Amino acid sequence: MAGVIVSDSIEAEIEVDCLIIGGGAAGLTAALAASEAGESVLIAERDTQLSGSTALSSGLVPAAGTKAQAAQSISDSQDAFIGDIMAKNKNSADPDYVRTIVTQIPKTIDWLADSHSIPFHVLDDFLYPSHSHHRMHAVPEVTGQGLITRLEQAVSATDTMIVTGACVTDLFLSPDGDVIGARCERPDGAIEAIAAKRTILACNGYGGNPELVARYIPEMKDALYFGHPGNQGEAILWGEKIGAVPTHLSGYQGHGSVAHPHGILVTWALMMEGGIQVNLEGRRFSNEHLGYSEQAVAVLAQPEQTAFNIFDSRLQQLGRKFEDFRNAEENGAVIVADSPAELAARIGVDGSALEATLRKAATLAESGEPDGFGRQFSADTLLRAPYCAVRVTGALFHTQGGLLVDEHARVKRADGSVFDSLFACGGAACGVSGPDVSGYLSGNGLLTALALGHLAGCCTGWAGA
Ligand SMILES: Cc1cc2nc3c(=O)[nH]c(=O)nc-3n(C[C@H](O)[C@H](O)[C@H](O)COP(=O)(O)OP(=O)(O)OC[C@H]3O[C@@H](n4cnc5c(N)ncnc54)[C@H](O)[C@@H]3O)c2cc1C
Repeated sequence: MAGVIVSDSIEAEIEVDCLIIGGGAAGLTAALAASEAGESVLIAERDTQLSGSTALSSGLVPAAGTKAQAAQSISDSQDAFIGDIMAKNKNSADPDYVRTIVTQIPKTIDWLADSHSIPFHVLDDFLYPSHSHHRMHAVPEVTGQGLITRLEQAVSATDTMIVTGACVTDLFLSPDGDVIGARCERPDGAIEAIAAKRTILACNGYGGNPELVARYIPEMKDALYFGHPGNQGEAILWGEKIGAVPTHLSGYQGHGSVAHPHGILVTWALMMEGGIQVNLEGRRFSNEHLGYSEQAVAVLAQPEQTAFNIFDSRLQQLGRKFEDFRNAEENGAVIVADSPAELAARIGVDGSALEATLRKAATLAESGEPDGFGRQFSADTLLRAPYCAVRVTGALFHTQGGLLVDEHARVKRADGSVFDSLFACGGAACGVSGPDVSGYLSGNGLLTALALGHLAGCCTGWAGA
């Protein structure tokens, strides 16, 4: 797997202008753009259907300066968005790269809406952690499944060939060092070769590869992986072999709020609007407002790797805006009780400790002082009976490290030059979160999937153009 074959020609079953490896948000966006530019396009997807982590995600894409924001009278700026990304990653990502992506993403959202009938609206009833403005864009379903279905429908209206059950195992490299196609394995074991003038890596990161997770992010080696199993890290493995620059491989998105044992994401909006997390002892252990990504590590450090999201019926209503939350309720993950003591008894935590934790939040809200973890409480969002709880654990969602690319999403070489015919987007490319779990600003995943997918797809700066 993840081999590289040096050859000056390929005996190929098919020849296309643009081969895209992976059919998630990045690959489908790239396909739309490449097809629009007049290229013949083939998407090779190892799964039997188009899903990827995109379909499993909440489908929220951050962007500043879109028509959707303007239609909802939301003021925002690209500088503010860049500031939020760089503050979260503690200035560890390349600012020029971040600017390229932030400048691109509103164009991509508007283009998907105007040219491909994929409507977006902005979630404007709460702010995601460390975002200074309302800028999370969603399709009407407000799900990743809705996003991928709409992208797939748009791609199906073009001449793009979508080949599922096609696991790309090897890249073909010309003797002068450029990628000229790939080889894939079909479910019946048949091997097929595809010759391509250019190749776009849209095969995400390595979250589904336990060996690579143990190597690059050892703190998550035993954690639940909540992304798509097809993400095995081939982009990085090929990149290592051909002289590309895998970067920030220790960066990733975790999440501290996966209902356990139900395995359903419980929206972090609950925490941002007044909810708290306690451990089995009924005590808080962190500032929930720093971000859900690093909270994965905090939750996994608690007894039995367990926490409880504590909220109330007001937040229960907010949660019901999300399909995942409704699923969690239907599956019995949400426990409701009239008092802290009753709730504590039902979830098996110390009642007096939980009561003390809630009282402390009320005192802090009154005084305006931050708590020992730095969180500020507000009287407007204090929890009131009846109370709710969901048992959760921490999980690995996706990796953020990947190949360095230039402003056209062309893969860079270690010597600073670029591959003329190799591109990377989405989780295959280096993200904008830096090398640490705490650098992930909500939405950084789909941000690079859509923005770099669009750039890679419509790139006219490659040698064969
Ligand atoms: C539960 C969850 C919630 C999330 N919510 C959000 C959110 O709201 N906002 C956000 O920005 N991000 C979110 N993310 C992250 C987001 O899902 C990813 O960053 C994004 O989907 C990456 O898109 P992609 O196209 O690069 O990868 P994917 O969507 O994973 O697509 C990659 C595809 O490549 C295929 N593939 C891999 N290797 C090969 C190969 N060798 N040959 C052929 N095919 C291959 C895979 O099977 C897969 O279908 C979430 C992630 C999870 C798990």
